[in-house]
Amino acid sequence: MPIYKYECAACNQISKFMHASTEMMSHCKKCGTENSLVKQLAKPFVNKGNKTSNKDSEVGEITKKFIEENRKVLEEQKKEYSNKQYDKS
Ligand SMILES: [Zn+2]
Repeated sequence: MPIYKYECAACNQISKFMHASTEMMSHCKKCGTENSLVKQLAKPFVNKGNKTSNKDSEVGEITKKFIEENRKVLEEQKKEYSNKQYDKS
């Protein structure tokens, strides 16, 4: 299973979790805040061997898709977090 890095929006500490790509951690064990973890961007896997011009554009597409997906996830997490803060006050 891959290791994911999360930054806690409450205490700003980085936590690492090993879990399936379909799962998501939200509870910060360092400060105990629920729904405070924001997934950090992982580097997309790029195979540097067997380089051809075709493969290059393929990797570019994968990277673009990866960045786009990460952006969406981060935006949703930010939204969730600010909603939670709003409810509290
Ligand atoms: Zn925390």
